[in-house]
This record gives sequence, structure tokens and C-alpha cells, in this order.
Amino acid sequence: MSHSFVADRMLGKLARKLRLLGFDTLYIRKALPGEILSIVDLEKRSLLTRHRELHSRAVKRGIESFLLKSNDWRGQLKATLMRFGITAKDIKSFTRCADCNALLFTRAPEEVARVVPQYVLFTHKHFLQCPACDKVYWKGTHPDRILQTFLGIVPSDGD
Ligand SMILES: [Zn+2]
Repeated sequence: MSHSFVADRMLGKLARKLRLLGFDTLYIRKALPGEILSIVDLEKRSLLTRHRELHSRAVKRGIESFLLKSNDWRGQLKATLMRFGITAKDIKSFTRCADCNALLFTRAPEEVARVVPQYVLFTHKHFLQCPACDKVYWKGTHPDRILQTFLGIVPSDGD
């Protein structure tokens, strides 16, 4: 089962990490509470919020909402994964842009030759690019190292 989320403006880091794990996550910085709830409701997403009031408004409307207690993205991510029963098999890392949530496209090395450092081009075969912001990803980039850090906190499937 795949999960999609809306993160409120206090959860920017969490939103980026969820995207790196492949989860469709909207990050809403400027919107009225009612507008946020409408988006969550309309798109059948789950709300991730640090605001108690927004959380209770969501619950009253029958919207799935998770009130996060932790200030730190690691604690927030761990709590989110547990709350939604997400395990390693649900994770599709390197499928979404951390900056804009768009699905990444596969690129051949020659297609990214102009934007990727030469040593990377020589040492990697698999590249991905964001259609929205043109950011190029490859195994071993910054997001990959972050991934290693937080794969340790993902519940394993036992296989
Ligand atoms: Zn992007």
C-alpha cells in the first residue's frame, strides 16, 4: 500500500525525507488551515502536522491526521513510519525529487554529462533527473547518504 501525505509548514525536513523514501508528500507553507484540510481531503492524503488545533479540525472532518510531537526530523520520521505501518518494502528510494516531489526520470550518462561532475560521470552508470527542477540524482549523492542514516530507523520486514 502506498501512502501520500501533506506536511504542514513546520515539517519541511520531514517532507524532504519522505520524498527521498518515495512517498508523495506535499509541503504546504502558505495556506489557511481550511485550505490545507481541503487539499488533504480532496486528494485523499494523510495530514502530518505539529499544530494541535489543525489536527483536531482534521479529525472532526474525518480526515486522517497525525499530530507529531518531536521537534527533530529523525523522531518525526520514525513516528510517521510507525504510525502508518510503513516497512522497508514500502520504500522506493530515488523515485522522487526531495525539492519538488516530482517523479524522477531515468537518464543515460550522456544526457547528464553537462551538469554532472566528470568524476561522477566516470564512476556511475545510473542517473535520475527531476522534470521540474532538473536536479540530477545518482547513487552516492547526498540524499543517498541521508538514506543510509535513516534506513536504520525503518522497521524491517524480516527478510
Ligand atoms: Zn525537483
